[in-house]
Amino acid sequence: MQSSDKDDEKKTKDPGDDLPDGLKDFFKKLGGVSIPIPGMNAAAGPADPVEEDESNEEILDRIFDFHYTPREIKAHLDRFVIRQDEAKKALSIAVCDHYNHAKYLRGVEKENGKLPQGVEFQKQNVMVVGPTGVGKTYLIKHIAELMGVPFVKADATKFSETGYVGGDVDDLVRDLVTQANGDVQLAEYGIIYIDEIDKLASRASSGGRDVSGRGVQTTLLKLMEETEVSVRNPMDMRSQMQAMMEMQRGGKKQKGTVNTRHILFIVSGAFSGLEKIVESRTRSSRMGFQADITPSLLDGEVFKQVTTQDFIDYGFEAEFIGRLPVRVICEKLTAGDFVKIMQESEGSLLRQYEREFEAYGINASFHESAIQRIAQLAAKENTGARALMTVTERLLRDFKYELPGTSVTDLKIDADLIDNAEEEVLRYRNMARMVDIERTEKKAVTFSREFHDEHGVSIRFDKAALSALAELSVESGQSVLQICRKTFQDYQHGLKLVQKNTGVNEFVLPERAVTEPD
Ligand code: ADP
Repeated sequence: MQSSDKDDEKKTKDPGDDLPDGLKDFFKKLGGVSIPIPGMNAAAGPADPVEEDESNEEILDRIFDFHYTPREIKAHLDRFVIRQDEAKKALSIAVCDHYNHAKYLRGVEKENGKLPQGVEFQKQNVMVVGPTGVGKTYLIKHIAELMGVPFVKADATKFSETGYVGGDVDDLVRDLVTQANGDVQLAEYGIIYIDEIDKLASRASSGGRDVSGRGVQTTLLKLMEETEVSVRNPMDMRSQMQAMMEMQRGGKKQKGTVNTRHILFIVSGAFSGLEKIVESRTRSSRMGFQADITPSLLDGEVFKQVTTQDFIDYGFEAEFIGRLPVRVICEKLTAGDFVKIMQESEGSLLRQYEREFEAYGINASFHESAIQRIAQLAAKENTGARALMTVTERLLRDFKYELPGTSVTDLKIDADLIDNAEEEVLRYRNMARMVDIERTEKKAVTFSREFHDEHGVSIRFDKAALSALAELSVESGQSVLQICRKTFQDYQHGLKLVQKNTGVNEFVLPERAVTEPD
């Protein structure tokens, strides 16, 4: 579902190259002005039918052959995502309803040759409330992967930056087409996920953005409902030209607009402060009773009490919130959850680390005590499960730097190693040196034998010389044999002379022979 390299190749070729010179000049003069091209613009009405090719058909067939139950989808998510049971259930149900409906419409259309009229269906777009790093994206990504539908994620905050509202919200839909490898029909069944939706709240006190936030809400609203989005950005001259050329060439007819009717929208945000709105509402309704004044936290219990009006008070348009009928919370994760994530999730970060060490021939093993320690440290970071990576990376950085390329083949990661990281790095470094010396000794013996066979002179290295050789080998990246052959290539002359004069038969080479061979 990724945008393919083929797409990139297409992009690098300037579409203007194929235009006649007169047309090129014409477009140059027009600059950035948008040219409506029939069938290529959102305003141009219904699009031309797509000429389908085989593999797209197959993918779509799979979507239309939807057969999962909510329980099956949740079971799939359970393999990767720890906790968040309510979110898993709600998302599984919403996804099943959504794709079952698409399947139903398709079935009727196939039977009658046209789409059924007057079928009422309210799309189950989903709002997920929850702090950062608790698995919201992870959940949605795995749903999209299971379904094989294209998936796009964006932050609502990015829609403020362009200065004009609307244009780049549509880009979300165009990104979906890219993710579907240019297949518009497949993109029409994709999933769009927008995070930080709470930043569109128009109530200043919620940290939202007032006027422009409201504008973006309105445009998003249209997308979530049903609208046609041009495949080509009408503000982008290049893509307009490309469309025109495709028409000129009379090639395959491309569908020019994406209908958003069957795109599933999922939005999320932390909604900090929403709990205060709920609290003040419930407190005023309890006036006269002993009001509970402990400050609330937006957890599952408080979330149960959140009403549509609370979201409106938070700064959302009633219509906007109305298009998000499924609302669910992803709860903050505890240190205990982090342990489970590391031990039970199929996507566990620990496997990644083990693979990374394995690439250097090092067998790294995480012990229970280390997992507990990492979880405790991560819980202090307040960035959810993302902290697991931050913490582990920081703890293991020195080991990842020092050990590759040495003779260390096992790294036991336990609480001890984490608590005394500095000493442990040194210990491993020494260990590496010791093992290196043993290995060096073997190589040195090989070299001595080689030297004796060639020159009839016996040599041996003392401990310091071996250690110097080992160090030189690590530093230079050359093998001990290579170093010996080069360093001692002319030694036989001198040694033979001494042998002749003194009768000594075996020479023991000291450290200086390695460091200053001359
Ligand atoms: P967010 O809630 O901000 O969208 P993500 O889903 O992107 O957070 O989480 C970041 C990473 O942390 C994920 O890629 C995943 O590796 C891990 N992660 C987060 N929450 C969970 C969870 N509940 N179970 C397993 N892994 C999780």
